[in-house]
Amino acid sequence: MGTSNLVFAFILTLGAGFFALNVQRLVGYMQIGKSDDRSDHPLVRLKNVLTIGIGQTKIFRDPVAGAMHATIFWGFMVLTAGTVEILIQGVFSKFSYALLLPKLVYQLYAMSQDGFAALVIAAIAFAFYRRLVLHPKRLEGDKLEHTDALIILGMIGGLMVTLLLTNACQYLLDPSAIGPEKFVSRQLAGLIAPLDPAPTRLFTVFWWSHALLILTFLNYLPYSKHLHVATSLINVYLSNTSGPGQKGVMRPMDLEADVDHFGAADVEDLTWKNLLDGYSCTECGRCTAACPANLTGKLLSPRKIVINSRQRLMEKAPVALGDHMEFMHPALVHGEGDDAGATTLTEVLEHRLLDTYITEEELWACTSCRACVQECPVSIDQLDIINEMRRNLVLTESRFPEEIQPAFESLERNGSPWAFNPGDRALWAEGLEINTMAELMERGERPDILFWVGCMGSFDDRAKKIAVAFARILKACNVNFAILGQEEHCHGDPARRMGNEYLYQMLAKDTIGTLDRYEVKTIVTSCPHCFHQMGNEFPQLGGNYEVIHHSTYIERLLQENLVPLQSDHGQRLTVAYHDSCYLGRYNDVYDAPRETLKRSLPVINLVEPPRTKDRGLCCGAGGGRMFMEERVGKRINVERTEELLATGAETIAVACPFCMTMISDGVKAVQSDVPVLDIAEVVAGQLA
Ligand code: SF4
Ligand code: SF4
Repeated sequence: MGTSNLVFAFILTLGAGFFALNVQRLVGYMQIGKSDDRSDHPLVRLKNVLTIGIGQTKIFRDPVAGAMHATIFWGFMVLTAGTVEILIQGVFSKFSYALLLPKLVYQLYAMSQDGFAALVIAAIAFAFYRRLVLHPKRLEGDKLEHTDALIILGMIGGLMVTLLLTNACQYLLDPSAIGPEKFVSRQLAGLIAPLDPAPTRLFTVFWWSHALLILTFLNYLPYSKHLHVATSLINVYLSNTSGPGQKGVMRPMDLEADVDHFGAADVEDLTWKNLLDGYSCTECGRCTAACPANLTGKLLSPRKIVINSRQRLMEKAPVALGDHMEFMHPALVHGEGDDAGATTLTEVLEHRLLDTYITEEELWACTSCRACVQECPVSIDQLDIINEMRRNLVLTESRFPEEIQPAFESLERNGSPWAFNPGDRALWAEGLEINTMAELMERGERPDILFWVGCMGSFDDRAKKIAVAFARILKACNVNFAILGQEEHCHGDPARRMGNEYLYQMLAKDTIGTLDRYEVKTIVTSCPHCFHQMGNEFPQLGGNYEVIHHSTYIERLLQENLVPLQSDHGQRLTVAYHDSCYLGRYNDVYDAPRETLKRSLPVINLVEPPRTKDRGLCCGAGGGRMFMEERVGKRINVERTEELLATGAETIAVACPFCMTMISDGVKAVQSDVPVLDIAEVVAGQLA
């Protein structure tokens, strides 16, 4: 081992040791968060790593940026093997994988190193062009973020260039050392040769530059937003979407817990997984670009929520762990879009995540549409942080928009978010001869399904027509069904989404008690919020039922030819279908409503707006926004309605009573006369 090997071994030990210290520090910071068991469904989690993580499937939702990023990512994976070889060679000069691998495998490895290095250089060049010339809106950030991104891009580019130049010099020094599979390096050697046919010094310079850049890059990562390079695959494995049926399910909450506050006001109230999300954020802005609140001019940016959580962690964790103000890096502590970053210990202690970094206004702007979660290429759950912070605002601090106070009061007193008389709940069904569960029970009978009408279907004049239409279809198909009538009340989902877990659990447990008393097995509902809540979240409280959305149920009836339809379908009609978030993104039901429309209206021309299916734009009603004023920016329902009308639709179809209200209001706001119909109304209109 020569002197240079010894020097490199010393530098390598220092670099690796400093990196290990940083890893230990960041893992330690995460431990100030709450516990969160993520050990379930290992195979599903592994599949996510293979598809979302290594396959980069979500990255390709933006094909151009996706191709660029995936090239860099895959290049990284392939070139990491080469990096290890180079680091070992720094200590043991004669080391080569060629000594260990079969010839063909080594040749493939060598070819992959050169090929990916060239591809990564092209991708980095495009990334520079994008950042410096194209300036995509979603990459907008402060100066520090831009500088950080440019430093990282520069380092990656530098690594690739020095790798190829090292190989090229080596080829000039010893042509037998670099085979034809390193085709890029050999071409490059041809360019260098006129400068110096035996470039010993150049080789040394490029080799050392490359090796030192590797160690610098490794140790810069923990202080950069590009920390995601090290954490994203781990984050995907541990993501919320890993477990079957877990999409969009709100975290259960123990209201009996002996705690001094509920929900999240600061980073210690978040889980370690929320904090890992912060480390994993690539700051790509895909979440914010898809956020209906942000794109209509509200303050909310899901990207900022995640970045702020990380920044506050970097500020607070060293103090909480007793090594305050060490290792803090301005890019990580500085608050996005404000001057929230603390400079003194007193400031750190005075600050908290809520108010200092994230304001009430941002939190209440969320429609819980899950577009952010859907878009995130590293499976971050921005909505989980928002939900926890709303819980703190409502349950601990009693701070919420004044318009939702009446909804909370009505839910408590009347069992619906509106101040309707509970005794009027089944008035919509008068004269339709629909059995209640109580009536059937009295006769010793049991229905095949319970039609859960929901508060909108029971009280809202427009939504009552949807309930009637669906009941007509069920009757026309001779389905044996019943309703709860006056025994139905809200299951509490709006309260849960608005942060009032107390009220939610009270209403949900009571509903489960009623359903269990009637031994209900199958529930069909026309409301996606009821569908999601009762099917996916009731199990947390011990309520287990088969819950079917009416779009799926009607489609099944149509498939089985049980729906008596008219033979004359009238004129060809152009229809645009608007996806409900709680049906689509929360439950992957995209085809059933479309199939229902096509089967009941064979002459339909079904058109799609640009934002459709899992990219669909929210109507603006979710997350309790239905009960709040929309005072800032453009109204979300107007934005969505304009998109739907731009398709040339003569009718807009929906499958949710909340969407019905919002899109109908949108149609009125833009002074259009295009009718808005629920899919049940379309089918009922075609009954023979
Ligand atoms: S859930 Fe929807 S509204 Fe809320 S932050 Fe995410 S994208 Fe925005
Ligand atoms: S949360 Fe996800 S989508 Fe949003 S900026 Fe971070 S990595 Fe991108």
